[in-house]
Amino acid sequence: MEYARFVNGDRMKDFFRLMSRTQFLELLEGFEPLDSEVVPLTQARGRVLAQDILAPEDLPPFSRSTMDGFAVRAKATFGASESEPSLFKVVGEVPMGSSGQDIEVGPLEAAKIWTGGALPRGADSVVMVEFTHPIDEETIEVFKPVAPGENVIAKGEDYREGDVVLEGGRVLGPSDLGALAGLGIVEVPVVKRPKVAVLSTGDELVPPDATPRPGEIRDINSTTLHLLIEECGGIPVPMGIIPDDFDSLKRACEEALREGADVVLLSGGSSVGRRDYTLDVFRGLKGCDVLAHGVSIRPGKPTILAKQGNRALFGLPGHVASAIVVFLLFVRPLVRYMSGRDLSTGLNEVRVRCGQEFPSVSGREDFVRVRLEDGPEGLSDMKWAYPVWGKSGLISPLVKAHGLLKIPRDSEGLERGEEATCLLFSYTYQ
Ligand code: AMP
Ligand code: MG
Repeated sequence: MEYARFVNGDRMKDFFRLMSRTQFLELLEGFEPLDSEVVPLTQARGRVLAQDILAPEDLPPFSRSTMDGFAVRAKATFGASESEPSLFKVVGEVPMGSSGQDIEVGPLEAAKIWTGGALPRGADSVVMVEFTHPIDEETIEVFKPVAPGENVIAKGEDYREGDVVLEGGRVLGPSDLGALAGLGIVEVPVVKRPKVAVLSTGDELVPPDATPRPGEIRDINSTTLHLLIEECGGIPVPMGIIPDDFDSLKRACEEALREGADVVLLSGGSSVGRRDYTLDVFRGLKGCDVLAHGVSIRPGKPTILAKQGNRALFGLPGHVASAIVVFLLFVRPLVRYMSGRDLSTGLNEVRVRCGQEFPSVSGREDFVRVRLEDGPEGLSDMKWAYPVWGKSGLISPLVKAHGLLKIPRDSEGLERGEEATCLLFSYTYQ
């Protein structure tokens, strides 16, 4: 019965209706970015700004000196030189942190000022202390002219009140947050980070800290997926190991959704074997549509995508390398998209030269784990890619690899020396 279903049933037919990676990515466009939330300034790094931020005031709020020296009227210094210095009367000193407004500088007057001090009334520039010479307590010589505005940061020179400081959609970095700090904006509206539930299924699986009995293996995917989620800005929600059993899996998925997961990753059981329940489980969830079962990529063919409202459910292949590749190609773009970024992997892509032949078949896109090495011409040359062959159930080839070499769908393989594109594993937090 089960066998007949395996050979002739709907599941098998569905499975062979493989879609391309591009078609799969188009399905992901059907999801929406999440709402926004407000976070403290220091927690906003790497988050996506949810709206434009306008300057509530001028930055800096007053004109400030950039040097230690004397605040003067520039015009009064014109013509001053080493041989014919101009004499200035020192009318006071601007203490740091004071507004400088209780001192007024007249035409041939100067006020002592420190770096960052507020320009006193009447002054428009600062003569560096190095270009002055004290004559007595109240008099200095100036032997170099300054231009108006010289050695001064003008009020509003960074931002004028009402300027757009940062545009919505921007991924916030340290300088951006510094600008907000300078403007007194300590709460930042950002797009929410998607919660991504991680479920591993397989009766053979035990947690990494357990000692497997004969026939059991430790769960690898929960760890790799957890870290991959964090790396692209999602919030991992570990749900543990679920037995290969329809009811347990359905309950676990329902719990993940109840907990508020925006994305559910169920690794293992995504194929069409006797104990592969993922497809049936997703079909059995209320309001859940299965959008894809099978993608023409290698590794990663038995990938399932389902949608319940704006929640995405992925059935990932259990093989450790396949789960990672499918995550990078599809889950990562969706997590990025839901958190306000574009629907791309965000991985660096580089052009490389094939160090040897890479066989493939037409009709399927291959993502071959590769090591990159310097070419014969050294640094000026493109990197050369060498395959790290290995079954997709092995983790060690991924440990050795630097990235995934893409063999296009219509290609029957790449020759040694041919150019290709490689997705690098070393991500930035984009
Ligand atoms: P499946 O997709 O359930 O047919 O699993 C394919 C292979 O991946 C089997 O050899 C599983 O034992 C293995 N596998 C499934 N899940 C995991 C996991 N979380 N960690 C390590 N290996 C796994
Ligand atoms: Mg299994």
